[in-house]
Amino acid sequence: MRQKIVAGNWKMNKNLDEAKELIEVIKKEVKTGLEEGTRVIIAPSFVNLQSAVKNTEESVVEVAAQNMHQSKSGAFTGEVSADMLTNLGVNIVILGHSERREYFGETDELLAQKVDAALANGLEVIFCFGELLEDRKSSNHFAVVENQIKKALFHLKEEVFKNIVLAYEPVWAIGTGETASPEQAQEMHAFVRELFAKEYGKEIADTISILYGGSVKPANAKEIFSKLDVDGGLIGGAALKAEDFAAIIKSI
Ligand code: PEP
Repeated sequence: MRQKIVAGNWKMNKNLDEAKELIEVIKKEVKTGLEEGTRVIIAPSFVNLQSAVKNTEESVVEVAAQNMHQSKSGAFTGEVSADMLTNLGVNIVILGHSERREYFGETDELLAQKVDAALANGLEVIFCFGELLEDRKSSNHFAVVENQIKKALFHLKEEVFKNIVLAYEPVWAIGTGETASPEQAQEMHAFVRELFAKEYGKEIADTISILYGGSVKPANAKEIFSKLDVDGGLIGGAALKAEDFAAIIKSI
């Protein structure tokens, strides 16, 4: 069975006090009304991970990092390794977010290395991919997504996919208020599932969770999540407000 997941990417928002406050409200909000088996994940900034792990200990809320370096250790000023994350009690990492690709030059080749390092250290990976507006306008969106997935993930052995969650995030819908229609999301999710079926077989394709991300909010979450191949959401802006995040979680 596919897992249902709602994950909040806090990006570079919330200082320590604000993060603690948000976690307290989220914990209260998800105490009731959470469908059994639904996973709730938050991804605060690196500096707030330790406190987030501690403050979510007794709750269903799981903590993810927003990025990590591909090397074990070394002279990489400002970077954080997979081992540093797991040692803190962080067992999930988001990789391939479009902002990392766009502002920090992360390529599919680099992401393949990051995915390998994360999995080798026992981290679960939320792997993001998605096309630019120009790709969609030129009807290249399927080819772009296929290429991103093949280059970053298709070198992997089939047994690791239990530790991978996919997140389709069309770049034109991130932080823009513009959401892919539920039909557009479904169409891409079904396409991606078919890619996995062809490469790894139906069982893997049918069990891998594919989240949608891009301006999900309480008003549109239910309809997007109702689509057959949409297993939840990766939420940016709306994850910063506990009531909105909780409403999205309850829409699943
Ligand atoms: C994101 O950055 O992953 C995201 C989906 O952002 P937003 O929900 O703000 O569009």
